[in-house]
Amino acid sequence: MKKHKIPLVSPAVGTQREVVALTFGKPAEKKVYLQSSLHADEIPAMLVSVMLQKRLHELESSGNIRGEITLVPVANPISLNQHLLGQFLGCFEMNTSRNFNRQFYPLRHLVPKIEPLLSNDKASNMLLIRSVLREGIDLEVPRTEFDSLQLTLLKLACDADIVLDLHCSLEADVHIYTNIAGWSQIEPLARYLGSTTQLLGNEFEGGTFDETIGSFWSELRNQCGISKAVPEGAVAATVELRGERDVSYAFAGNDADAIINYLTYQGVIEGEVKPLPPLPHSATLWASREEYHAPHSGIVVYLAKVGVLVDEGDPLFDIVDPLDERVTTVKSRTRGVFYMRRAIRFATAGAEIGRVTGRAAV
Ligand SMILES: [Zn+2]
Repeated sequence: MKKHKIPLVSPAVGTQREVVALTFGKPAEKKVYLQSSLHADEIPAMLVSVMLQKRLHELESSGNIRGEITLVPVANPISLNQHLLGQFLGCFEMNTSRNFNRQFYPLRHLVPKIEPLLSNDKASNMLLIRSVLREGIDLEVPRTEFDSLQLTLLKLACDADIVLDLHCSLEADVHIYTNIAGWSQIEPLARYLGSTTQLLGNEFEGGTFDETIGSFWSELRNQCGISKAVPEGAVAATVELRGERDVSYAFAGNDADAIINYLTYQGVIEGEVKPLPPLPHSATLWASREEYHAPHSGIVVYLAKVGVLVDEGDPLFDIVDPLDERVTTVKSRTRGVFYMRRAIRFATAGAEIGRVTGRAAV
């Protein structure tokens, strides 16, 4: 295993943070990139990285890693240190309110530069594409520590074949976001993880990490059509490992095993390919999800568990007004999986409380 420390832009004199990347195996046909807790308060993902390190050390010692696997267990050292009045604030940079997982440098802007350089040979095209991606990222000069974090992570991942961004939600079961074109490659991971919800889309919420990589390859294929030998490219997914309090050795061990099983299935790890378990629910379009809001302020009492299939009309939660006898039950407007809900138990008027999946994607 090689440990690579990459310093970020120093935000203030006397302060210096770094991203630590651990690389197992050696360059071969496939490269895998995994990172945990880009939203730094999403700790289930970080514990999975700890479990993964143990397994990868063993696999490397026994010579069973065929490709190169880079793991960043702490993807956001900046927000790891953001605490306010006892609360850990990991999603947004406190100085600018920017979400750490939005507006990554748009790799798809490099497509016009790449397209005329492509030949009819897929293998040489792959090398060329990867080198243009790395050079394109290098040309971006980060002004802030935030920018340098995003560019560092993107550079580590841009030449990988499989990119997994490990997060968690507020209260949730395991669910996955990925690009429509890449779904067939990610589906085995969803099965091994027992993921209850698979949300597919080409555009999510404005330049997330996995979307930045997935949309680059989609755009390149769209621009080149079948006239150029465009390689398959990378598959990228955001994996939500339940809710933020679901930190346990049992969950993390199972999730790490599922990822190792997936990498074995993909041929990056040598070993027996485990049978694929059934997928609990079909993939759905991210854009057709339904969001549910508090109709007025009050106490939130959940009536549905996360990860379960609900029908249209099934109650999701009550909002209880403590100053009169008003209780409003919010019901599902669709049949789908109640895949995530807020961790709060008191809502302000109009606050988003939970989400149910919508129309099937395939
Ligand atoms: Zn997150």
